[in-house]
Amino acid sequence: MGGGLELSRGPTMKEKLVIIGSGPAGWTAAIYAARANLDPVVFEGAGSRTMIPGGQLMFTTDVENYPGFPGGVTGPEMMMAFRQQAERFGTRIFTEDVVKVDFSVYPRRIETNMGKVVEADAVIVATGANAKWLGVPGEEHLARTGGGVSACAVCDGALPFFRDKTLAVVGGGDSAMEEAIYLTNFAGKVLLIHRRDSFRASRIMAERALENPKIEVMWNTVVKSVHGEEEIRGLRVADTVSGEERDVEVGGLFVAIGHEPNSGFLDGQLELRDNGYIHPAEPGRTATNVPGVFAAGDVIDDYYRQAITAAGTGCMAALEAERWLAHGGIEQDVAVGAA
Ligand code: NAP
Repeated sequence: MGGGLELSRGPTMKEKLVIIGSGPAGWTAAIYAARANLDPVVFEGAGSRTMIPGGQLMFTTDVENYPGFPGGVTGPEMMMAFRQQAERFGTRIFTEDVVKVDFSVYPRRIETNMGKVVEADAVIVATGANAKWLGVPGEEHLARTGGGVSACAVCDGALPFFRDKTLAVVGGGDSAMEEAIYLTNFAGKVLLIHRRDSFRASRIMAERALENPKIEVMWNTVVKSVHGEEEIRGLRVADTVSGEERDVEVGGLFVAIGHEPNSGFLDGQLELRDNGYIHPAEPGRTATNVPGVFAAGDVIDDYYRQAITAAGTGCMAALEAERWLAHGGIEQDVAVGAA
């Protein structure tokens, strides 16, 4: 992405609002907050070999279901446009990771991988979730280049690329069932590859998948590698019981082995659900159990996981933060708490 501001290790920064994360939720929160004169700072992430600022959309080729783009748009182009829109209203952007937070103090304290220390009146956590990948040869390359490997059937399954082909789905949970069933709308055939001999999925979802004539289950099977240079051609699979390996021709691979919310850096300072996603203080709101700390996007959402829903909760978080600050922020909370 480039364009991050110069890094400085100067004195502690004092900010009204810090937004952590740079997917649709983070940028939308920044656009709303900047237009409300909150002068937000975004920590967009430092980037690494497998993580790039911009969130999961940076791994998505064509986005066809985001309203407003009748001809579609690529994920990276879309995130660049979100980022530019946030910058246009004065958002300050740092290409750094937040590695530590202290929500026991006020203002809230945030530290980055570059040693920057920020004190913030309000914070929006929009760090997203990552699809888990198999980590086998060929997978990452073809996922990055739009060569037919994806972790989201709802996002990518309807693309012409996948039409009428034999597609593989890996996983044995509800996501894998849902993705396999969804893909039967487009695919010639769906191979559902699972490493054990029974599904983890709910009974009703498993039954639906098993009853679908277009779905063939490959039990006790793991993917060893993904073949194809520019486009996926097939998979090397192994039988976990006999150890036997063979090649299977497929025109697409959908990895559906779960997601992981990026909530580890919070070090238990926000209330989380059992699966690691942030638990909003009230249903349908973005405020967390810590006053002045809000959460938006996939880090609070293990259900919809869409760019449009993430952008929606990013907007909500900015509005809630703005109102919280306008109504006296922590002082009001303390007064209410003391009453
Ligand atoms: P999940 O329930 O954790 O299932 C992950 C599946 O992937 C498991 O079958 C697991 O195998 C397999 N797996 C994990 N790592 C693997 C690896 N490295 N290689 C091969 N296979 C691997 O995840 P999920 O399906 O995404 O569901 C997450 C939550 O969302 C669940 O609570 C689910 O009920 C819910 N959900 C609900 C719906 C719905 O109701 N419509 C739809 C989607 C998700 P093992 O079984 O052997 O561990």
